[in-house]
Amino acid sequence: MEYPGNLFVVAAPSGAGKSSLVKSLLELDSHLVVSISHTTRPPRGQEHDGREYWFVSEPEFRAMTERGDFFEWAEVHGNLYGTSRAAIESRMAAGEDVILEIDWQGALQIKQLFPHAVLIFILPPSFEELLQRLHRRGEDGADVIETRMANARLEVAQARHFDFVIINALFETALFDLKAIVHAQRLKYAAQRRSRRAVFDALNLS
Ligand code: 5GP
Repeated sequence: MEYPGNLFVVAAPSGAGKSSLVKSLLELDSHLVVSISHTTRPPRGQEHDGREYWFVSEPEFRAMTERGDFFEWAEVHGNLYGTSRAAIESRMAAGEDVILEIDWQGALQIKQLFPHAVLIFILPPSFEELLQRLHRRGEDGADVIETRMANARLEVAQARHFDFVIINALFETALFDLKAIVHAQRLKYAAQRRSRRAVFDALNLS
């Protein structure tokens, strides 16, 4: 599928800093919109339906998968998550750049559908640092942290399938790296041709 807008996909094990990086990037970049996923997980803390996620029941989610409403979906930590067509198709068709903050399984499905999607994996500097961050975040109990750490060991092995890797040791450096990737992608010949069609036509460029 070819749309004028760019598609960025960011994945990471939990605690690597993905959400904070994407949030800061969105504050700096008005041409980028984040896709709101659907999930069967219950809202946490201050989360609102339609802001962090669309929170749906498992039967609702299953009905959406059967209708083909999702570009991709996956089970992550025992809950279902999916990117709906409605969330991104119209925006990319309108030339907006969309960023997906999803897990590695979803990222690889997106790459199959949109070969020009840019896959970015955020790595922690070490497993020790990841463990400390999960404890510092104070969101999860010891058993959840243990599961997340076990998953993290499997997830980081997927980084090799991604186009770019950012090691989030220092937040500001990682944010700079993320901005650089987004900027460079926008300047690629194929991306410019998709997004600046009129200029290319005027210059007789194919
Ligand atoms: P959390 O429950 O902590 O918000 O998210 C758990 C994991 O699910 C994170 O890795 C998050 O990026 C991923 N995730 C969120 N939305 C989607 C989605 O639409 N599709 C897939 N495949 N993963 C998602």
